[in-house]
Amino acid sequence: MNTKYIFVTGGVASSLGKGIIAASLAKLLQARGLRVTIQKFDPYLNIDPGTLNPYEHGECYVTEDGAETDLDLGHYERFLGVYTSQANNVTTGRIYNTVITREREGAYLGKTVQIVPHITDEIKRRMLLLGKTGDYDVIITEVGGTVGDIESHPFVEAMRQLQWELPEEDFLSIHLTLIPYLRAAKELKTKPTQHSVQELQSIGVHPDIIVCRTEKRLTPEIRNKIARFCNVKPGHVIQSVDAWSIYQVPLNMEAEKLDEMVVNKLAIPGLPKADLTRLKEFLTRLRHPKKEVDIALVGKYVELQDAYKSIQESFIHAGAANECKVHVHTVHAEHIHEDNAEDLLGRMDGILVAPGFGERGLEGKICAVKYAREHGIPFFGICLGMQMAVVEFARNVLGWADAASTEVEPHTAHPVIDLMEEQKTLTVKGHTMRLGAYPCHLVDGTLAHDIYGRDDISERHRHRYEFNDAFREPMEKAGLKVSGVNPDSGLAEIVELPSHPFFIAVQFHPEYKSTPERPQPIFMRFVEAALKRRGGQ
Ligand code: GLN
Repeated sequence: MNTKYIFVTGGVASSLGKGIIAASLAKLLQARGLRVTIQKFDPYLNIDPGTLNPYEHGECYVTEDGAETDLDLGHYERFLGVYTSQANNVTTGRIYNTVITREREGAYLGKTVQIVPHITDEIKRRMLLLGKTGDYDVIITEVGGTVGDIESHPFVEAMRQLQWELPEEDFLSIHLTLIPYLRAAKELKTKPTQHSVQELQSIGVHPDIIVCRTEKRLTPEIRNKIARFCNVKPGHVIQSVDAWSIYQVPLNMEAEKLDEMVVNKLAIPGLPKADLTRLKEFLTRLRHPKKEVDIALVGKYVELQDAYKSIQESFIHAGAANECKVHVHTVHAEHIHEDNAEDLLGRMDGILVAPGFGERGLEGKICAVKYAREHGIPFFGICLGMQMAVVEFARNVLGWADAASTEVEPHTAHPVIDLMEEQKTLTVKGHTMRLGAYPCHLVDGTLAHDIYGRDDISERHRHRYEFNDAFREPMEKAGLKVSGVNPDSGLAEIVELPSHPFFIAVQFHPEYKSTPERPQPIFMRFVEAALKRRGGQ
């Protein structure tokens, strides 16, 4: 079978959840026995989202191979349980960078370099790249942005060309739109969808299937009207009604027969029905929790839910595994002080201090660690959260009042968190952190070892600073145990407090690898510890 290419575009508005629809379809096809991956083409000029403020674009998701990518790649991995890579996220910036570098090398032999064909050729090359590996039967490409935007035009143009260059049964186009409900008129409105499809067709792309995001169910009349005006087969207009969980969407899409339409158009015969047993089991546990806990998520990007997407999702997975509803309360680090820590954190069953960059909110994070440590509240620190746990311990247990990370106090006499050696000579910011998967050796007899139940693990990283080994001995003597180290460099990756009911902090980002079917072990145990604190419900 040839590799099949499915393209998902969006119209009418952004944030309709193209990533979730793409991931849901991928899940259904995977559950029918196909090897599927998803890639995202983002229309902005940044080479990658690594340098984007989380307020702009939500969390930066990191893959095994150290690519800093769009958060939708996190959804792809969580839905499919397979890793993505740098090749799965392409930006306009990356495309132009390649073409312009090639031009400077003289590769275009004096030709005028243009959007069509040079930029579109490079887009097409990358759209087909993963299909050439032989690892996949189906490649789903999510085209970022909204059809009609100047920015995504070259992507849609590349799609248009592929529509004719690929065999007909190897190409499929899905358009996701919004059907707004006008409360005053008590009506669902199809006009924005008609316009959006017209826009797509004016470029020359013909959608095979239209998926309509809607608050209310579509009547057969509305479906027929959209089919007629948008020039698609009756029956190829499907609804995606607001779901109670994103993980329910694959089942909703199956009920709408999305996978059926796709395999028919792509002429893939003889597939069994989707086996979604494990997803359904997960959803049952998620839907009927027997217990609940309150967890504080202390961070600085709290106004935007998407800034901590993978952490939020990890709690959903770990909660379901524990048959427990996890209420995650985001607490603004900047608001926490010694005198209000009790008010803000006192009723929490667990405290997680989040990753982050820069000075803002650091003292609040340190206060939160102190409160958790002194009150025996289960504590979990991630990346910057781990670094602040080390600073807190140095200041308040060892009494080094000036202990700090050199990220904010370059001249402190107690640089307990310091820039990594290889970072010291770097002057550029983009893609220069310690990124991607690194091995970690767990020390026998520690909480970390007990949680993972193994000697060696691998987790993903994204940071410049690290635990300063020069202070390890006094820290360990005073009770902060280093329980995970990088086997090659000796860098401390995990610290814990054996004297505390549950206190663990990690330099890596365990949240990137959590999936509904494989919840991350530290998150699971953290929720368990929070449950215990709440009083063995
Ligand atoms: N700013 C810290 C560092 O660079 C922590 C990074 C993070 O939390 N991802 O090391």
